[in-house]
Amino acid sequence: MLRVGVNGYGTIGKRVADAVAAQPDMEVAGVAKTTPNFEAEAAHRRGYPVHAAREDGRPAFADAGIPVAGDLDDLVAASDIVVDCTPAGVGAENRAVYEAHDTPALYQGGEDADVADASFNARANYDEVASGDADHVRVVSCNTTGLSRVLTPLEEAYGIEKARATLVRRGGDPSQPDRGPINDILPDPITVPSHHGPDVNTVLPELAIDTMGVTVPATLMHLHTVNVTLETEADAAAVKETLGGESRVFMVPGDARVAGPAHLKEYAQDAGRPRGDLWENCVWSESVSVEGRDLYFFQAIHQESDVVPENIDAIRAVCTETEAAESVVETNRALGVGFGDETDERSAVTDGEGVTASADD
Ligand code: NAD
Repeated sequence: MLRVGVNGYGTIGKRVADAVAAQPDMEVAGVAKTTPNFEAEAAHRRGYPVHAAREDGRPAFADAGIPVAGDLDDLVAASDIVVDCTPAGVGAENRAVYEAHDTPALYQGGEDADVADASFNARANYDEVASGDADHVRVVSCNTTGLSRVLTPLEEAYGIEKARATLVRRGGDPSQPDRGPINDILPDPITVPSHHGPDVNTVLPELAIDTMGVTVPATLMHLHTVNVTLETEADAAAVKETLGGESRVFMVPGDARVAGPAHLKEYAQDAGRPRGDLWENCVWSESVSVEGRDLYFFQAIHQESDVVPENIDAIRAVCTETEAAESVVETNRALGVGFGDETDERSAVTDGEGVTASADD
């Protein structure tokens, strides 16, 4: 069993810890937090040993009635690998602590790429990271993960002359009351192209891609408009088949009448997903259109959860000899990634009612 420590137990950290606990080959060595808030209490209730990230924070945990298993050094010492899920920039400061213990570590997309020896997305470069000797690996951001998952299979199937994407970004996560805007639409960043394209190039270095960012008053998901000039001609049906064959892409069926992220979140909650998480890219099947070699589609990205299966695969890539396909299948199975079965069942029901013949459009 791989012992995985999670440093930083917020939006990403709590999901990574639960995903680790769900894997047959991993266990949560413990989690580290700075403050004994409701999330620390939840970690304790879930049975994860809670460590005080700062030595001087211990008394506050004791006051809050949360037993402290140790400090950050103790957590790192008890772990085969640490997944750093602290706020952007803190991971870079923590690298020295992991290095002092000679313990491998994963970092998140809020860190600069140079925090780590390699950046990672399971679909784009698992093999490269697994075959190298990188002990410090950054899992790319939610938006970069979302782009890499669709651009890799498109590159493989048709070649990509140029990819362009506008990222309509949520202003903050649902648990962040202090983020915004609350009544505006911001070019963000105002400079073009945005940093997202170069970030995709950390895992797909050869890809020609430009991105623009917009931030809006929403919390549920990001929405991407994607335009890809392919190197070879394709039709929309073939592209839908290519993307639909990806285990972490959910082709949103037209007859589901999913209008936007609010419906997608409801879909996930109705499916019994923990926290209503959507680990998959959600590509609107009806939006997939091709004009000559120009492909267009919309996809929504659940920023709180799409990187979670990627962190699990990155753990195996760094610590084990597991092949990419084997890891992805295991991660997906343990988490329940994929709406395939439900969609098939749904399709059978609508067939029976004579409403629509296909789950796809
Ligand atoms: P968060 O603020 O929700 O959680 C961070 C946690 O770390 C909090 O519990 C905080 O108390 C704790 N913390 C703060 N300082 C710490 C320290 N010095 N040591 C240990 N813990 C500390 O942040 P998040 O949204 O989970 O983001 C974590 C990382 O994941 C960032 O790099 C972020 O850019 C990246 N990321 C976030 C999202 C997202 O949409 N939330 C998506 C993908 C990647």
